[in-house]
Amino acid sequence: MMTKLYKAKCSRCKTAFRRKTRAELLSALRQHLWKRHRAWMISRIKAGKKEASKVNPTAQQILGKVMKGVFPMVPPPSHHADKAIAIVDVAMVATRAKLSPAVLMVWSAFKAMYRFKKFGKELE
Ligand SMILES: [Zn+2]
Repeated sequence: MMTKLYKAKCSRCKTAFRRKTRAELLSALRQHLWKRHRAWMISRIKAGKKEASKVNPTAQQILGKVMKGVFPMVPPPSHHADKAIAIVDVAMVATRAKLSPAVLMVWSAFKAMYRFKKFGKELE
C-alpha cells in the first residue's frame, strides 16, 4: 500500500520536499528557507512588521498625530492597541495642564471611537 506523502515546493528555488506528516513538511520547509534564503526571510519579516504597524500604530505614532491636533486612525481592538492607548493616556494625563483644548478634544474623541469599536459590537 502506498503511503500518502505531503509535498511542497520552495517558492524561491523550487526545491521539492516530501514528508510523512504536514508538521514534518512545514518544519523541513522552514529549515530550508532559513538555511538557503536567510536574507529574503529577514526582508519578509521586516515587511510584515511594517505592514502590521500600519494597522497597529505604536504609542509614539498615536501621540505624534494627537499632539498635532490630527485625528489618528482608530486601530482594530487588540491587546497591542490597548497597550499603546494606555501609554498615550498616561502621557496626556501627565501633561494635561499644558495641552490645548483642541488636542484634548482629539484625544477624548479618539478614545471614545476606540471604545465603541471594542465594546460597541457587544451591544448589538
Ligand atoms: Zn529554496
